Amino acid sequence: MARKPQSRGTCQYCGEETAKAGMSRHLEKCEKHAQIVQVAEAGNQPEETLWHIRVQDAYAKDFWLDLEMRGSATLEKLDAYLRAIWLECCGHLSQFTVGGWGGHEIGKARKADEIFRKAPDLLHLYDFGTTSETAIHVVGSRKGKATTKHPIALMSRNNMPERVCQTCGKPASYICMECLIEGDMDRNPYLCEEHAEDHPHTNYGDPTPLVNSPRVGMCGYEGPAEPPY
Ligand SMILES: [Zn+2]
Ligand SMILES: [Zn+2]
Ligand SMILES: [Zn+2]
Ligand SMILES: [Zn+2]
Repeated sequence: MARKPQSRGTCQYCGEETAKAGMSRHLEKCEKHAQIVQVAEAGNQPEETLWHIRVQDAYAKDFWLDLEMRGSATLEKLDAYLRAIWLECCGHLSQFTVGGWGGHEIGKARKADEIFRKAPDLLHLYDFGTTSETAIHVVGSRKGKATTKHPIALMSRNNMPERVCQTCGKPASYICMECLIEGDMDRNPYLCEEHAEDHPHTNYGDPTPLVNSPRVGMCGYEGPAEPPY
């Protein structure tokens, strides 16, 4: 079996693409990022601890983000961010835990500073039925001024994983929920535009457009998978 190529992502400051494992190193030496930090330092935001966190789907590890979160921001802000960029379908409940399912729940009113000093790994659960599990890992922290006026800044994001059409092998842009749910385990549920149009399955509605989120194919998720700010 061919080895899966490593997931790649894009630096949100300079646009450079690197492999997932190389992104933290890139962010440390990214000149564009350094310039933005310098401008922020000259501004009038309060100085605080800024946490670099790597967020990734607990199973589909080619979905990942590097975020910088203010120490003064609550986990409520992180929950809202994850819902906007990846998760929100029908307003399900969510929680943060240490130790995963059945672990210790961390209240959303807690601040990044309080939590990340003691617990560098959290699991975020969204929807207790068809659950999306998101692993949150502290990569590091710095003292300084936030680079935006928001609680969280997006530093890098995975590139859309490449999927191919089940019929023709060309790049896919749709997923058939019926193929996913009712097909054999190894059935490829992805379709190109042309073959999505004449695809015969309708039990779960028309094929759903693919977006850059690990929740595609779960519950009624349809995107848009855009950052909230
Ligand atoms: Zn860069
Ligand atoms: Zn839902
Ligand atoms: Zn096709
Ligand atoms: Zn189908």
